[in-house]
Amino acid sequence: MATSTTPAVKVLEPATEQILAEVPQAQIEDVEEAIARAKGAFPTWRAMAPSDRAGLLRRFAEAIEDRAEDLAKIEARNVGKPIADARGEMGMVVHAFHYFAGAPERLFGRTIPVAGGVDMTFREPLGVVGLITPWNFPLMLATWKVAPALAAGNTVVLKPAELTPLTALEVERIGLDAGLPVGVFNVVVGPGRTIGERLVEHPDVAKIAFTGSTEVGKRVGQLAAQSIKRVTLELGGKSANVIFADADLEQAALSAPSAVFGNAGQDCCARSRILVERPALDRFMEVFEKAVSALRVGDPLDEQTQMGPLISAGQRSTVASYLEDGAPIAFRGASPEGPGYWFAPTVLCPVSNDDRVAREEVFGPVAAVIPFDDEADAIRLANDTIYGLSGSIWTRDGGRALRVARAIDTGTLSINSNTSVRVNTPFGGFKQSGLGRELGPHALEYYTELKNVYMSTG
Ligand code: NAP
Repeated sequence: MATSTTPAVKVLEPATEQILAEVPQAQIEDVEEAIARAKGAFPTWRAMAPSDRAGLLRRFAEAIEDRAEDLAKIEARNVGKPIADARGEMGMVVHAFHYFAGAPERLFGRTIPVAGGVDMTFREPLGVVGLITPWNFPLMLATWKVAPALAAGNTVVLKPAELTPLTALEVERIGLDAGLPVGVFNVVVGPGRTIGERLVEHPDVAKIAFTGSTEVGKRVGQLAAQSIKRVTLELGGKSANVIFADADLEQAALSAPSAVFGNAGQDCCARSRILVERPALDRFMEVFEKAVSALRVGDPLDEQTQMGPLISAGQRSTVASYLEDGAPIAFRGASPEGPGYWFAPTVLCPVSNDDRVAREEVFGPVAAVIPFDDEADAIRLANDTIYGLSGSIWTRDGGRALRVARAIDTGTLSINSNTSVRVNTPFGGFKQSGLGRELGPHALEYYTELKNVYMSTG
């Protein structure tokens, strides 16, 4: 808990550039205390009957659901995301807690045939887990870590991004009110450079689950390696939306805007490279342009809004720099005047896959359309990136859809759809997009150690 002498973190509202809230900034001693609380709570939490731990997680889920509308409004204002999207994220938060509440009673081991006795495997919790999360989907991404970590019997210390700490702090309070024992779920708000790194280096933290940029992920991995700390990393992306000429072009083009401009493009799964087979390019661009110009960009709290502002002035300058490299601007959508970090959705075409805008994660509403010649060319281009997080394939040829899906080096792919994430299916990156998996049954492997026990029956 921050002391009264510590500085405050000023939390901004990107649509108005006004201060939304001030929260105390944690100091190193506050992180030490949070880790000590988590360490103190671990033995009891781990030893709790699985059905009791499951029951507490369900109560936590219900308490969050009761407050979902408030939480959605806070998230919409703090991130600048449309309220409808924020509501969807809260639904996923509640779903994730319910889903992982099923885990304490289903953390199965195996028996393995051996000579002279019985061999058993157990999945043991790790201890105190440090969670570090970004600002683009603040509570949702935190929940993907908190829910499986707690379900597996760990206790956690969460460091949300300083730009967007409000929902995490709110949910810490909701958890205590719902009956989570003190120390099981702790939140510290402070800069990654100091507070985050202390969490990564601390000897009492058994694992770090990090979501953020590939650059910071590398630093987290290096620091964690000093103590062979367990690490999962959910990092950046530069995903391809591959559209073959035989696809339902209307559907592919109409759904392309949300796949790249959703969350104002500040989405690790953004399909920011749109690969289109040459014969379909003109028709695709025609429908895509209509869909982009119809996008409603504006006040995040307006029920009709589909895209809000960027998170900060700095992010807006970074995104703008990608328009200065010479790739032709095909068309742009609307963006409001006045205060707010607005940036019009922008489509560049034709782009070469060697251009900076096709190689780097823009993290803003800029789409690069890259024409391709045939199936082999599409696979080559889709794989010509350091990233491998998400992607889509649009075609009516089922055999080709599966051939291409297997050939693209990426963690999550959709065929004739742009969806990436489901609570009950694994999510994570190939290559420099990350290490490990979140969500689905696989997430639990990353919050437990495998123990083998042999008992002689001789
Ligand atoms: P970021 O700058 O890497 O920050 C992420 C978190 O790490 C923040 O809480 C940050 O704290 C903290 N941090 C910064 N430096 C640190 C350090 N040296 N040691 C420990 N922690 C440190 O990323 P961001 O700008 O918030 O988020 C955007 C990035 O996240 C994009 O690259 C995006 O692709 C990626 N992302 C990936 C996924 C996925 O699931 N693969 C999902 C969403 C976002 P402060 O900011 O408070 O200082």
